[in-house]
Amino acid sequence: MIYADYAATSPLSERVYETLCRVSRDTFGNPSSAHSAGRAAAALVDRAREQTAALLGCSPDEIVFTSGGTESDNHALRFAEGKTVLTSSIEHPAVLNAAWNAASRLHLADPGADGRVSAGTIADLLREVPETALVSLMYANNETGVIQPVREAADAAHAAGALFHCDAVQGAGHCMPTVRELDCDLLSVSGHKFHAPKGIGALYIRKRLAGQVPPLLYGGGQQGGLRSGTLPVPLIAAFGEACAEAAEVMHEEDARVRRLRDAMAEELLALPGSLRIGAGETLPGILNIAFAGTYAESLMLLCDLRGVCLSAGSACHAGTDTPSHVLEAMGVPEEFRSSAVRISIGRFTSAEDAVRIAAVVRECVALAREG
Ligand code: PLP
Repeated sequence: MIYADYAATSPLSERVYETLCRVSRDTFGNPSSAHSAGRAAAALVDRAREQTAALLGCSPDEIVFTSGGTESDNHALRFAEGKTVLTSSIEHPAVLNAAWNAASRLHLADPGADGRVSAGTIADLLREVPETALVSLMYANNETGVIQPVREAADAAHAAGALFHCDAVQGAGHCMPTVRELDCDLLSVSGHKFHAPKGIGALYIRKRLAGQVPPLLYGGGQQGGLRSGTLPVPLIAAFGEACAEAAEVMHEEDARVRRLRDAMAEELLALPGSLRIGAGETLPGILNIAFAGTYAESLMLLCDLRGVCLSAGSACHAGTDTPSHVLEAMGVPEEFRSSAVRISIGRFTSAEDAVRIAAVVRECVALAREG
């Protein structure tokens, strides 16, 4: 099987797996306990907090460990409870649905046909809606990989007196500017997108906001009262290890993966009736491509039968065949919207795998068109 769905989730790295197993077995203490077993666990949590902060470019006390991207996004949106929120129409449902529930009013900025929301659109909307309390813009879109103008949007938000949140779930672990460079007040990350286990993530909260954060969960007051619950030390240690490993390899890996992705794109775009969805700066491993005269779902199944796992566009709504709200917002014509597949590769994709993926997709496009 060749896995080409890294944007949905990624495999554990060997280092992360080893940390997860070792800590689960050896360091089972509760980090809130004052005895030596507890202190050993607390030391691992502190170390992971430092590793996370080093990757994101902030200080360790600005990190709250969460259960993943969805929780981080929901927690960030709690800042806007009962207030006006401005976000984009291409956000992940974790942001869109949390915003619908938390905000008293919600305004959405649409992307252009290239999949990028312009900072100008955000600035214009902020002028129209000056009472906006929070702006949320993702770092990179999970369907197209298109990188958004986060720093410019943060500047516009701050100029209008609003807070700025960034859903960086797809960007973290890749060469991404630091939270200081992006000037975010809140930023969400999720471990399973960069080789950590599922069920662990983090929310960066800028230090000066600390006293103003409403908790998402009430309980024993762990993590400064921001996120109660006994800390899952093995998951946190594994997440920290994934952050440290990403920081070491991301420059080389991003360049290598980008070369493989670009070669696949060239090969597949040579097919008549194909269209690449999303343009400009993108994450290195994501290729969203549509083939007129096919259905994404059938293409995905045909590829799966030939040993290649890719995604039928809106993977994050897996199990449903709701049309992609992202491609719809971009104005992608219907025949391409229903035939768009997302190929997403990463650290364990070899050059041979990439060649095989392109060959299998070509073959399946021909079969789908015949059938
Ligand atoms: N935000 C984005 C951009 C995502 O791609 C995802 C997951 O696909 C999430 C949030 C949700 O993250 P998690 O699966 O860790 O809850």
